[in-house]
Amino acid sequence: MAGYVPARVRYSRIDAIVRDLLDDHDVVGPAVPVDGIARALGLEIKEGKLGDVSGMLVRTDAGAVIGVNSKHSEGRKRFTIAHELAHFLLHTGLLTHVDRDFRVNYRNEESSQATNVEEIEANYFAASLLMPFDFLEMLDAEDAVADDEEAAALARTFGVSQHAMSLRLANVYGRYKPF
Ligand SMILES: [Zn+2]
Repeated sequence: MAGYVPARVRYSRIDAIVRDLLDDHDVVGPAVPVDGIARALGLEIKEGKLGDVSGMLVRTDAGAVIGVNSKHSEGRKRFTIAHELAHFLLHTGLLTHVDRDFRVNYRNEESSQATNVEEIEANYFAASLLMPFDFLEMLDAEDAVADDEEAAALARTFGVSQHAMSLRLANVYGRYKPF
């Protein structure tokens, strides 16, 4: 239903969507081709000078356009694309959506109950799509939880920032449930 805003983060639904996307696109290991997946779903990806905006989603008659901050690192750009893809798939009520440095939210998620559910969902989707649990397991990623160099190597393998990888490892292998 249009404009529907979930009251709670839909972890299992997001897990299922991510699994289907990986299956549909025959992705069997890192790095996940997030831009190819987004394009296959009808999204156009444009980079531009966006200032303090990390990314945005603009729905069109043809599908949607994801805007990405051209100054950001490749890892951050990939996370942004995955985050906006989540809004496209999960939050149909959002016609135009602008994300101003959502990393702040991402970093504080465990403690901040006030964080918008849609943003938590988009970040959980992005982390799950770019760093799938099965792929982490394949590479014995648990060993990297307390090892910054291994975490950095994993981040390169998965095409994400080291910050994103460290947070994902803590969520998957730490004592907290994912987000
Ligand atoms: Zn967002």
